[in-house]
Amino acid sequence: MLKEEKIETVPSGVDIATLADRFQDGSAEDVIRWALETYGSRVALSTSFQAEGMVILDMAYKVSPDVRVLTVDTGRLPQETHDLMDRVRERYGIPIEVYYPDPNELAEMVAKHGSNAFYRSVSLRLLCCNIRKVNPIDGALGSLDAWVSGLRRSQGETRARTKTIELDAAHRGIAKVNPLADWTYEEVWEYTRKHDLPYNDLYDKGYTSIGCAPCTRPVEPGEDMRAGRWWWEDGMPKECGIHLGPAWGRTS
Ligand code: SF4
Repeated sequence: MLKEEKIETVPSGVDIATLADRFQDGSAEDVIRWALETYGSRVALSTSFQAEGMVILDMAYKVSPDVRVLTVDTGRLPQETHDLMDRVRERYGIPIEVYYPDPNELAEMVAKHGSNAFYRSVSLRLLCCNIRKVNPIDGALGSLDAWVSGLRRSQGETRARTKTIELDAAHRGIAKVNPLADWTYEEVWEYTRKHDLPYNDLYDKGYTSIGCAPCTRPVEPGEDMRAGRWWWEDGMPKECGIHLGPAWGRTS
């Protein structure tokens, strides 16, 4: 099944395994340039406007100002994230393709479980993440052959095996490009400062990873950088499901 879809979604002559090896030691800019030149309008950069997302956006814009940028507005984002999105629109002059949760799914969930059900159980948290994040991204990626993300291996256990270029089994086997896979958090901020990139104001308030407002808190010194995400859950992966396999977190 996946093999057939791979043939359909990866341009002929492109061997992902070979490319992954080729770019393993290449620069992030080289990887982004390859992705944009190979896939054109069939590739988009997906970002939640965290620091990593701003780095790849800046690099991609410098390669091609026509780069497609997509994001999900979950309806629960911090004001600071919306402020940053406006600053990005102003600085780069690019449209941001914003995807939203299905209003019927949202209404049904809130009617049945309330507005803040995610605090009550892991399954309700996953239901919310699926409706507000995963499903909209699935829809956005449905018409693409490749996407670019800001994942880094050092972000945690669930991301430790991230490859620079890989096939995305969760999304029809399209190409997933992770130009910052081997970057450190410090390198992200070095680039941010060097290029004077706009960044989310919450980083100045102790946040090291930023998602929805009710599910993100600042971290304490010595805590894992994603410890502020769904901090009340014990032993669960710090993931919404977008970057995990097709079965993870699905409620139906
Ligand atoms: Fe819902 Fe929280 Fe997931 Fe956002 S992070 S989609 S509010 S559970």
